[in-house]
Amino acid sequence: MTKEIYLTGDRPTGKLHIGHYVGSLKNRVAMQNSGEYEPFVMIADTQAFTDNARDPEKIHRSLTEVALDYLAVGLDPKKTTMFVQSQIKGLFELTEYYMNLVTVARLQRNPTVKAEIEQKGFGESIPAGFFTYPVSQAADITIFKAKKVPVGDDQEPMLEQTRELVRAFNSAYNTDILVEPQGVFPAKGLGRIPGIDGNAKMSKSLGNAIYLSDDADTVAAKVKQMYTDPQHIQVSDPGHIEGNVVFTYLDIFDPDKAQVASLKEQYQQGGLGDMKLKRYLTEVLESELKPIRERRASFEEDIPAVLQMLKDGSDHANQIAEKTMTEVRAAMGVNYF
Ligand code: ATP
Ligand code: MG
Repeated sequence: MTKEIYLTGDRPTGKLHIGHYVGSLKNRVAMQNSGEYEPFVMIADTQAFTDNARDPEKIHRSLTEVALDYLAVGLDPKKTTMFVQSQIKGLFELTEYYMNLVTVARLQRNPTVKAEIEQKGFGESIPAGFFTYPVSQAADITIFKAKKVPVGDDQEPMLEQTRELVRAFNSAYNTDILVEPQGVFPAKGLGRIPGIDGNAKMSKSLGNAIYLSDDADTVAAKVKQMYTDPQHIQVSDPGHIEGNVVFTYLDIFDPDKAQVASLKEQYQQGGLGDMKLKRYLTEVLESELKPIRERRASFEEDIPAVLQMLKDGSDHANQIAEKTMTEVRAAMGVNYF
C-alpha cells in the first residue's frame, strides 16, 4: 500500500525559531518516525522572494540555515524528502493555471495575508506575487497530492484556499486527479507562540524570536529582555500571568507542570522576582535546545553534504511533481503534441 504523503515547509527568510519547533517541526519529526507517512519538507525560496525580491543573499544564506535546522531537530533525509521549491518547475506552471480559478476578491479576504500586509507595512505597494502567494502554496501542496499538512495556526486560511482550488480545478476540467488536503495543527496554545516582546506571533521577520541555533548566552540574554508584567516592579508586588511571556513559555516547554503551577501561584501572590523566574526559564529552554544546537554544529562542518542532500531531495520531488503535471496537462487538454 502506498503511504499518505504529507507536505510542509518553511520560508528561507532566516533561521528557524522555537515557535517553529513546537508549532511544526516537532510534529514533523514525530510523523516521520511513525513510519506511517511519506514526508516531504520544502524550503519555500520562491515564496520568500515574494516579499524579499531585492535581497536574494538573505534567501540563499537562509536556505542553508533552514536545512541545518531541519537536520538538527531530527529530520532524516533517509525518511523525509527535503527539497527546494524553486527547483520544481512544475510548480510555476500549476500556479499560473490556478491563478485563473481564484478571484482577487477571494484573495483579499485571506486573514493571514491581510495581517502580514499590515505587519510588513506594504501600504498600497503590495507585490503581486506576495498577494497571490496562497495560490502558489496551493500548487505546492497539490502537486504532491499531499493529504496531510502539518502547520501552525496561521496556515488554516491557506488550506481552505487550497481545498477550494482543488474543487475548482477538478470541476472545471471534469477530473478527480487533485486531492483535498487537511491541516494537522499543533495542540492548543502551540500553533502560534508569541515573540519575546509579547507580540502575538514569534516570527523570523519580526526580530522577536529565540532561534534553535542561538548559543546559551544569547538565549539567556533574550529571556532577560522578555516581556512580563509591566506592573510587577518590586519583588513583593503581586504579578499577572496572563500575557506574561515567561509563563507562556513555561507552559509550553517545562515538562514539570506542578512546578509551573506553584511558580504561578507565588508570582500572583507576590514574592517571586522576574530575575529568578527568568533564570529558571533559561534552564528549561537550555535542556531542550542544547542537544539541538550540538547536532546542528556537527552538520555545519560539511555544508556541501547539506546542499547535496537538498539536491537529491529536489530530484526526487521533481519526479513526483512531473507525474502530477502530466495528469494536469492532460486534464486541461494542453498536451497538444
Ligand atoms: P516569516 O516571518 O518570514 O513569514 P515565519 O516565522 O512566519 O517567517 P514561516 O516560514 O512563514 O515562518 O512558517 C513556517 C511554519 O512555522 C508554518 O507552519 C507556520 O505556521 C509555523 N510557525 C511560524 N511561526 C510560528 C509561531 N510563532 N508559533 C507556531 N508556529 C509557527
Ligand atoms: Mg510566515
